[in-house]
Amino acid sequence: MRPLVATIDLAAIRHNYAVAKRCAPGRQAFAVVKANAYGHGVREVVSALYDEADGFAVASLEEAAEVRAMHGEARILLLEGCFAAEELPMAAHLQLDLVVQGLAQIEALLAAELPRSLNVWLKLDSGMHRLGLSADEVRRQFPRLRAAAQVAELNLMSHFACADERGHSLTELQLECFLDLLDLDFDQRSLANSAALLTIPAAHMDWLRPGIMLYGATPFADPSAAELGLRPAMSLTAQLIAVREVAAGESVGYGATWIAERPSRIGTLSCGYADGYPRHAPSGTPVWLGGRRVPLVGRVSMDMLTVDLTDLPEAAVGAAAELWGANLPVDEVARAAGTIGYELLTKVTARVPRRYNA
Ligand SMILES: *Cc1c(COP(=O)(O)O)cnc(C)c1O
Repeated sequence: MRPLVATIDLAAIRHNYAVAKRCAPGRQAFAVVKANAYGHGVREVVSALYDEADGFAVASLEEAAEVRAMHGEARILLLEGCFAAEELPMAAHLQLDLVVQGLAQIEALLAAELPRSLNVWLKLDSGMHRLGLSADEVRRQFPRLRAAAQVAELNLMSHFACADERGHSLTELQLECFLDLLDLDFDQRSLANSAALLTIPAAHMDWLRPGIMLYGATPFADPSAAELGLRPAMSLTAQLIAVREVAAGESVGYGATWIAERPSRIGTLSCGYADGYPRHAPSGTPVWLGGRRVPLVGRVSMDMLTVDLTDLPEAAVGAAAELWGANLPVDEVARAAGTIGYELLTKVTARVPRRYNA
C-alpha cells in the first residue's frame, strides 16, 4: 500500500465542538459538515457528534441526504437553499432547515406543494454581497413568509465577510444591519461562523455555525488554533521513500527550480499534488520529520515531494513525515503556501485513505 494516510482524531472533533459550545453558553450549534466535513469524512464526523451536535449544516441536498441517512432526528441546515424548485419536495421529505437566499427561492417555496412545512432561514445580505436579501426586502417578505403554509419556523440568518480580521469595520456594519431587523419576530437567529463565535459574543444569537474550528484549525492569522484551545483533527502522514546526496550546484525536481547551495541530503516523500498537497507550496514550506521541521525543496510533483534533510542526517528511508497535523499546524503550512487551512483540508483527495481514531 502507498504509505500516505490521513488520520482523523474524532475525539479532537468532539473536543472542538465542546469548545465552540463553551464559548457561547446556552446557544445551539449547527456543526458545519459541508464538503465531506471539510475533508474529514461526513459519515464519521456525524457519528462522532451524533449525541453532542444540536444540528448539522451542509451545502447541497446530496450532502443533506447523506447526513439524514445517518441521523433521523437532527436539524440539518441547507446553507444555500435549494438550487432548483424541483429540490423542494426532497428538502421537505428530508425535514431540512431551509435557507432562502433570494427572491426566486422565495417564489419557488411559496408556489410549492409540500408534504410538510419547513423551518425556513431567511438570509439577509448584511454586507458580504454574495447571497441574501437586502434589509428592506427582508421586511417586505417577512409577512408573506410568516403567513405561508410551507413555513414552520421563520428564522433569520446572515454571514460575515471579515469576522476573521479583528475590528474590521464591515463586521460592525453587518452586525448592526442584522440587529436592526430584530424588531421582526423571527423564531430563531443565526449569524456566527467560527471566527464570530470565537471573538464576537454580540453575534452569537440563537444558533452558531462553527465549521473550521471543529477541525482544529483557526480562521485567524493570529491567534493559533492551539492558543484557542483547539485540537487538530487531521494528520496527513507520508513516508520517506528515498534519500540521496546531491552536490552543490545540482538541481532538484521538475523545472530544476531549486539548486543546492551546499552538498545536500534530499529526501523524497510519498505525497504530491494529486493527494491535495498544494503544488504552489514554495521551497521552505515546513514538513514535520524526525521530530523537527524540514524545508520542502523544489516543485511538488503529482505523487511525491522533496525535502532538504541535510541538517537531519539520521533520517532514513521508512521514516514517517507529517505534512500537517498533530505536530505541524495546517495553518502554518497554509500560510507558507499562500492559502488557508480550509483549502488544504478540503482538498485532500479521495485516493488518500482516511483512518479514524475514536
Ligand atoms: C461554511 C459556512 C460556515 C462555517 O464557516 P467557518 O468559517 O468554517 O466556521 C458558516 N456559515 C455559512 C453560511 C457557511 O457557508
